[in-house]
Amino acid sequence: MDIHEYYKQAGKFHGHWCPGLAIGVRAAWEAGKALGTRMADRHNHIQCLAESSACWLDGIQFVLGSTLGNGSLKLADYGKSAFNFYNPETGESLRYYLLDLPREKPREELIDYILSAPAEEIFRQTPVSGPFPPRKEKAGETVCSRCGEKFREDKAVYWEALTLCPHCL
Ligand SMILES: [Zn+2]
Ligand SMILES: [Zn+2]
Repeated sequence: MDIHEYYKQAGKFHGHWCPGLAIGVRAAWEAGKALGTRMADRHNHIQCLAESSACWLDGIQFVLGSTLGNGSLKLADYGKSAFNFYNPETGESLRYYLLDLPREKPREELIDYILSAPAEEIFRQTPVSGPFPPRKEKAGETVCSRCGEKFREDKAVYWEALTLCPHCL
């Protein structure tokens, strides 16, 4: 599939076609080229730590198969339009920071630009902003004194004689 085809297919997954989706598709596409997508272990994927949440997350999930569910996509909400990518097998990594786009272009032209302009006009490449967050160790469970729901112990706040979940704090 070429990148336009990926974008078309990704829109079915995302529910609509938009510049944000195109940004995610392009970022994932470039990351796949730079870091490789052929993994020795088929359970491995390129990992992505996105620095804000938007339509582009679905482009990344669709192109790389890195999802919230399989733990290869994580969000560190710094409010930046930037993506850190990691190859878990080679240790290679890179970060793409989204540059200013010609937003005055008509929507379809803008999308085409995002998918096909030279990569260095779309993203600035930098070293990653940090390591990919490790999998959480299996923490024990506890029960909230207020709502009675079970939750992960490492999220508990102890206050006077109470054990509180993040909702009841
Ligand atoms: Zn969208
Ligand atoms: Zn609670």
